[in-house]
Amino acid sequence: MTPIRIDNYIGGRRIASSSTRTSDVYRPAAGERTGQVGLSNAADVHAAVAAASAAFPVWADTPPIRRARLMNRFLGLMNQHKDELARTITAEHGKVFSDALAEVERGIEVVEFACGIPQLLKGDFTDQVSRGIDNWTLRQPLGVVAGITPFNFPVMVPAWMYPVALACGNTFVLKPSPIDPTASLLAADLIREAGFPDGVFNVIQGDKEAVDALLEHRDVRAVSFVGSTPVANHIYETGARHGKRVQALGGAKNHLVVMPDADIEKAVDGLIGAAYGSAGERCMAISVAVLVGSAADRVMPLLAKRTRELRIGDGRDEASEMGPIVTEAARQRIVGYIDAGVEEGASLVVDGRSHRVAGSEGGFFLGGTLFDHVTPDMRIYKEEIFGPVLVCVRVSNFDEAMRLINTHEFGNGVSCYTQDGNVAREFARRVQVGMVGINLSIPIPMAWHGFGGWKKSLFGDMYAYGEEGVRFYTKQKSVMQRWPASVEKGAEFSMPVAK
Ligand code: NAD
Repeated sequence: MTPIRIDNYIGGRRIASSSTRTSDVYRPAAGERTGQVGLSNAADVHAAVAAASAAFPVWADTPPIRRARLMNRFLGLMNQHKDELARTITAEHGKVFSDALAEVERGIEVVEFACGIPQLLKGDFTDQVSRGIDNWTLRQPLGVVAGITPFNFPVMVPAWMYPVALACGNTFVLKPSPIDPTASLLAADLIREAGFPDGVFNVIQGDKEAVDALLEHRDVRAVSFVGSTPVANHIYETGARHGKRVQALGGAKNHLVVMPDADIEKAVDGLIGAAYGSAGERCMAISVAVLVGSAADRVMPLLAKRTRELRIGDGRDEASEMGPIVTEAARQRIVGYIDAGVEEGASLVVDGRSHRVAGSEGGFFLGGTLFDHVTPDMRIYKEEIFGPVLVCVRVSNFDEAMRLINTHEFGNGVSCYTQDGNVAREFARRVQVGMVGINLSIPIPMAWHGFGGWKKSLFGDMYAYGEEGVRFYTKQKSVMQRWPASVEKGAEFSMPVAK
């Protein structure tokens, strides 16, 4: 098939990049090339930022209730088009359709949250801080803000950013992953259809070149990033050097602890879904099972059986539980990790390396892979594999499990399965991780709670979406006011105090 050209979206129009560099877009379930995306250069980025800058003054001045009404219309359109968005995700990313639909729904929740922006921006007021003087604080938008997003949630992760940013009165430039770039253009179409003014939302396709042009651009006031830790670190440092506000969410190695008193079957359900859902390509995937004491010998046989029975295939097939890996390069990287695990001496219980899917031989498929007797010095324990590989570490007690998790360099998500309330409480209080689940394996906070990890899983101090998101995309202003009747005559040379 002839690959479809995937463009930028600037000032309300789809425009081809002026760069000659391109990147191929695939349908990973078939391994076939379906599109070609332009890799934008600095001139393209400058055009997008110029469109966003031009749209900013009127948009920032638009009353929050009117911005909320447009957001509400966009919400309706997102709901109306959720199947189409999900189909696009399944086509370019590969995850199964039901999972893609759930991704869209989690993104829509942030749009719902952003519809409440008048209340969120309300500010506060103190009457009579001194005689005849009042003081209030308000929050104002920053200007043009940028979002740089990963391949694994092409609808949801951008939606962690732009609904809140736009509702706060900023204008936005999104730089999605070149691996699955089409969903962002669909979102742009819906934003336009909802009635947002041209230039308020823009999409720049591309890679490092476009990102660096955004980071260096004087008129970009803030950058939200989600992706791998080394790039998050680069974005944080470079953005800060250029005077920008930055939140950069990085990689993960999420542990799930199974205590001996846990309901073992439910813990295995939790592990299987969270390790192999979306082929393990989630920042909240569980990639380490920490099996405490006698739990190990009860969990492992069930886990092995369920891993072997995973239904792997084209994401469009309703019977599939797990789709392909996103690219052939990612597939090979994951195979490399499995090889390394074997070389380092871990027990390979289920080997997914040679898994083939009948009828989809060209697809980038891998089977679910399970390791037992993994130790903390092994690469498969320390590094993020970002694939359908679950490593199991056996520990003798709760304290050892806590030490293991708390000394790991990542701190995104974590989970503990237990029936003991004291253990659950201690776990949630002592664990050095940003998002904690008790008897649930993927604790992604709701839209009004904010999302973010600790340690090398987040650079910056504010989480994505929720009230933290509103704070990130606005700056506080404090106003003190008095009127002539209260103004005393004569200069005052001491610090003003309440009178
Ligand atoms: P990535 O870091 O390769 O890419 C993320 C974005 O940065 C993309 O838009 C990409 O084009 C751009 N980019 C890549 N290399 C760059 C460079 N050298 N300089 C500037 N920009 C660059 O990540 P990915 O492979 O797309 O996504 C997977 C990663 O994202 C995993 O590490 C996963 O844990 C992480 N992730 C984290 C979260 C979270 O909330 N913490 C959520 C989703 C994904």
